[in-house]
Amino acid sequence: MNSFAIAQPKSMSEASRIVSDKKYSLVVIKAGGIDLIDHLKEGLIAPDVVVNVRRLQSDKELIKVSEGEIRIDAVATLADIVSSAALRAACPALVQSVENAASPAVRNVASAAGNLLQRPRCWYYRNEQFNCLKKGGATCFAVEGENRYHAIFGDGPCHIVHPSNLAPAFFVTDATVHMVGAEHPSLPIRYLYHMPDKGVRSESNLPPGAVITHITCKPVKASGFYAIKEKQSFDWPVAAAAVALEMDGNTITKATVCAGAVAPIPWELRNVAGALRGVDVSNDAALTKACAAAAVGAKPMTDNAYKAKLLPVAVKRAVLLAAGKKLEVES
Ligand SMILES: Cc1cc2nc3c(=O)[nH]c(=O)nc-3n(C[C@H](O)[C@H](O)[C@H](O)COP(=O)(O)OP(=O)(O)OC[C@H]3O[C@@H](n4cnc5c(N)ncnc54)[C@H](O)[C@@H]3O)c2cc1C
Repeated sequence: MNSFAIAQPKSMSEASRIVSDKKYSLVVIKAGGIDLIDHLKEGLIAPDVVVNVRRLQSDKELIKVSEGEIRIDAVATLADIVSSAALRAACPALVQSVENAASPAVRNVASAAGNLLQRPRCWYYRNEQFNCLKKGGATCFAVEGENRYHAIFGDGPCHIVHPSNLAPAFFVTDATVHMVGAEHPSLPIRYLYHMPDKGVRSESNLPPGAVITHITCKPVKASGFYAIKEKQSFDWPVAAAAVALEMDGNTITKATVCAGAVAPIPWELRNVAGALRGVDVSNDAALTKACAAAAVGAKPMTDNAYKAKLLPVAVKRAVLLAAGKKLEVES
C-alpha cells in the first residue's frame, strides 16, 4: 500500500473541494471505509489523499420520514437504516434490503452512499494478478473463466454484477441522489449507474468531484426486497429483487421491479412489472407465472444459468413481502 495523507474536512462541500483539487493525482472519499480500505489493501487504487467524510452528517437527523418523502443521510449506516422503525413502516423494502446484508459489524460502519458506490466483487477485478478490462486490460476473464457469480443480463464487454442491495430498493422507490460539487445537485438513481459499454473502468455516473450528501425517495408501504444467498451472513446475494406495488385489495394494479446481483447495474424488470398487473397475489399459480418473466432475456454464461432459475423466486418472494404476506419458505 502506498502512503497517503488523510484529510478531515468539516463539511461535504469542503470534501468536494479537496477531491477536485488538481494538485493531487488521486483523491478518494472514505465513508465507513469497508470497500475503500479493501481497495487500498488490494492495490487497486493508490491515492495521495483519502478524504474522511464518515462523521459529516448533512442534517441533524440521519433518517427523516415524512408523509411524502424519505431522506437518508449519505453517512447513515446500514444499522441506522435497519433500526429505524419509522422507515420500516413507511418503506419496508429499504430496511429489508440491508437487514441481512454483510454482518452486524459491517452494518454498523457501512454507509448508505458507500453502499451505493461500492465497487464490484468480481474476483478477477479484485485479484491483482488479473489485468482485466476494468483495470485497463484487454480481457474479461469471466467469459472463459469462473463465472458462477457473474451477470446473466447485459452484453458485456465486462460481466460484473452490481453488488449494492440498497440500489434496487432505492430504484423501485424512485430515489434521487443529492450531491455537492457537481453542476447539477441531484441525479435520479435510475441514472446513477451505467453499463460497461459506456465506460468499463467505472460503474457510476457521479460527476468527478461530486460528494453525495443524502438520498431521498418516496415512501412505499407496499414494497419488499428479497435476496437469495449462498450463506446467510457475511455474503452478497446471488440474486435479489426489490418490488414496489400499488394494490386494490389483493390485486396488483401497478408494480415496479428491479433485480440486483444479476447485471452490471440495478436491472429493471419491466416485463415482470407488466405481467404482475392484474395479478391477485393470493393466486399462487398466476403469481408464479408472472414472476417467471424475470428470466426472460437472460443470457447466462457457462456456470451461472442457476441465477435465471433463482431470480423469479426472489421476485415472487419480494412481491409477497410487498403485499404484506408471510413467506412460507425461508431460504
Ligand atoms: C463481508 C461483507 C459482506 C457484504 N455483504 C453485502 C451485501 O450483502 N449487500 C451489500 O449491499 N453490501 C454488502 N457488503 C458491502 C458493504 O455494504 C459496502 O462495502 C459498504 O456499504 C460500503 O460503505 P462504506 O461507508 O464503508 O463505503 P466506503 O468503503 O467508505 O466507500 C465506498 C465507495 O463509495 C465512495 N463514497 C462513499 N461515500 C461517498 C459519498 N458521500 N460521496 C461520494 N462517494 C462516496 C468511496 O469513495 C468509495 O468509492 C458487504 C461487505 C462485506 C465486507
